[in-house]
Amino acid sequence: MPGQNLLKIYRLYASWAEEFAFACRKGCSTCCTQSVSMTMLEGELIHDYIRSQRPELMNILDNLPEGSSPPKTTNQFAAACLMEEESDDGPVSWNMAPCVFLRDNCCSIYPVRSFMCRSFGSTVRCDMLGEAEIEPLFLTLNTAILQCIEHLDQGRPWGNMNTILQMVQEKRSGEWGRQIKNVRVCSPLPGFLIPPDEADSMRGKLQILMDIVGRG
Ligand code: SF4
Repeated sequence: MPGQNLLKIYRLYASWAEEFAFACRKGCSTCCTQSVSMTMLEGELIHDYIRSQRPELMNILDNLPEGSSPPKTTNQFAAACLMEEESDDGPVSWNMAPCVFLRDNCCSIYPVRSFMCRSFGSTVRCDMLGEAEIEPLFLTLNTAILQCIEHLDQGRPWGNMNTILQMVQEKRSGEWGRQIKNVRVCSPLPGFLIPPDEADSMRGKLQILMDIVGRG
């Protein structure tokens, strides 16, 4: 059921994203680094796809480099913001090396890429200008969806894509149990981070999302 709801969110998001104009094109891959974070649910979908559709990529799963996870999950970050807590997490270290699934500047697992990968969208060509520009409303929508996906998978691991895929691989090959560092745990939805001037634009979408994740 959580897997079906994840696919439902992916489909909805694809239609909602059409409301925004992006400069992104096939072959832009500046954002495809090893700093993607995700849930175990998303990792299982990727693992299923590789095993059934792209077995030639299985060797990547056996040789994943160590990943580094942000200090808080999206819902933990949202909870801290909503409680107006001071952050003492320190600097986040990003690994900007190309993603292990990047082939000829295209994603080799595109149909099942994680939500964070789907949410990369810039209004300018970041490969030419050196940095992306993201519409505030698009960022708000992405954060709300990250929160909902985390809520669907609460209590299970959350972290860097490499690390999560390592965990899925080990779990499915019966080696589960090794202490993997640098992983957080998915938390329930504490409420959304919606700026007042975006509340009207987001209301309908939030209601649909809450119905999907059982918080309606
Ligand atoms: S999984 Fe695909 S879309 Fe995501 S960072 Fe890697 S190559 Fe890019």
